[in-house]
Amino acid sequence: MPSDHDQQATQLRQEAARCVACGLCVPHCPTYRKTFNEADSPRGRIFMMVGLLEGRLPSSPELLHHLDLCLGCRACEQACPSKVAYGRLADGMRDWMSPVQPRLRKVLFVSVRSPRLLSGGAGLLRFYQRSGAQKLARRSGLLDRLGLAAIEAQLPAHHHAAPTTGLHLPAGTPHGTVGLFLGCVARIFDAQTLNAALFVLNRLGYAVDIPAHQGCCGALHQHNGDLGTADILRQVNLNAFAGRILSAIVHAASGCAASLAEYQPPLNAPIMDISTFLDQAEGWPSVSIAPLDSAVSVHESCASRNVLHDSQSAYSLLARIPNLVIGALAGNDQCCGAAGSYALTQPKMAGLLLRDKIEAVKTGTVSHGRTRIIVTSNPGCALHMAAGFRAEGMDVEVMHPVTLLAKQMGYFEVPNNAG
Ligand code: SF4
Ligand code: SF4
Repeated sequence: MPSDHDQQATQLRQEAARCVACGLCVPHCPTYRKTFNEADSPRGRIFMMVGLLEGRLPSSPELLHHLDLCLGCRACEQACPSKVAYGRLADGMRDWMSPVQPRLRKVLFVSVRSPRLLSGGAGLLRFYQRSGAQKLARRSGLLDRLGLAAIEAQLPAHHHAAPTTGLHLPAGTPHGTVGLFLGCVARIFDAQTLNAALFVLNRLGYAVDIPAHQGCCGALHQHNGDLGTADILRQVNLNAFAGRILSAIVHAASGCAASLAEYQPPLNAPIMDISTFLDQAEGWPSVSIAPLDSAVSVHESCASRNVLHDSQSAYSLLARIPNLVIGALAGNDQCCGAAGSYALTQPKMAGLLLRDKIEAVKTGTVSHGRTRIIVTSNPGCALHMAAGFRAEGMDVEVMHPVTLLAKQMGYFEVPNNAG
């Protein structure tokens, strides 16, 4: 009887066999666009995967480097006439090969598994930034010596506490109740967006239920060859949201959504991007939105474009702000390089892709002129791009569309209620 490992290899070979090597995906692949090396293209990677699965190619460091250089952006899937599920194939291959994860990645993965560790991490980061330790560490060169400078540079300028768990009721009779998914990285690094989402939902008349025991969506593990842990995390979230009567479960991180949307069995309410939910929500006639005489460019995350196929709701939501000029950031068909933990594990390629976004803003190559505000629905992209703009000394704000809308509805940054 074939082992689980052999059965997995058979399934992966079947998926790879759908590829007819037509090459239509190749020019859409961001890594191929940078290196012009077939081994850094989807077609080349599938060829190498099959070689590994059939034992014809050794798992040399060079071959693994070409596979690891894949962003998981899934732009190739959009171009593929044979509907090769490249994302599932790449995740399965990493799991099949059970890579030895570098120590840093392991620490990150263990941390995001536990909500208690996440809260502890958030508190430590706030202390680090407020106590002056951050300035000291940056000046002393210690971060460079520890190899942590690149990660540390991604920290947002200000840390806020995530919304408290439990039921947040609006004034008056609610139109309904929605669940709010906090995420792991988002609740630490982008709590402002979660607070903004809560504010807007309550103002529109929705009760917001935030279960205490929810955790990481599992995307980081799934894309890094640890499907077993991704399954455990899925079960944690299924349990956390079970038994609640919800119109929808909304999230403010498209990277998580791509993973949540693929849960089997699914969560007990439809998973919706906050922008999509708000776009269809009731209650708009009763709120006022201040005009904003500015231009905003929308960065469409790979998860929104290539997995959820829902880039438009951010534009529709922003269109509710009077006077705001809205356009797409040039080069939206290409990943910014954030890609989960990619910016940490493949900093060189991540930097090349980020450079394109920086140039798009610098040269004003957006469809509607120069911009000072970039919005994106994925906190990973926001952190990565904001760090790039800061390093270039550029005066560009990066935020979630719901944060910009909330500000125009009277939301001002929630005080750090967790000290
Ligand atoms: S997922 Fe993205 S980086 Fe990876 S092969 Fe496909 S297009 Fe290229
Ligand atoms: S487009 Fe699809 S079938 Fe063609 S080479 Fe790429 S993965 Fe293979």
